[in-house]
Amino acid sequence: MAESIRPVAGVDYPSRLAELRSWFPADADCVDYLDWLRWPDGFACPGCGAGRGWLGGDGRRRCQGGGCP
Ligand SMILES: [Zn+2]
Repeated sequence: MAESIRPVAGVDYPSRLAELRSWFPADADCVDYLDWLRWPDGFACPGCGAGRGWLGGDGRRRCQGGGCP
């Protein structure tokens, strides 16, 4: 039987407020972590699959593939 892969508190994500503050001293550090969770192999546009994107001032990525609005 295959063992399920479950995230582990304190290893895959902070388990306490002190760990949260240690892992993410600034908001940008948390955004980097979320980017890594979402795109572990690098950004890929969900609309067209392009591997290039701009990071906007609001922390959202915009496609550079030319096929998306
Ligand atoms: Zn796109």
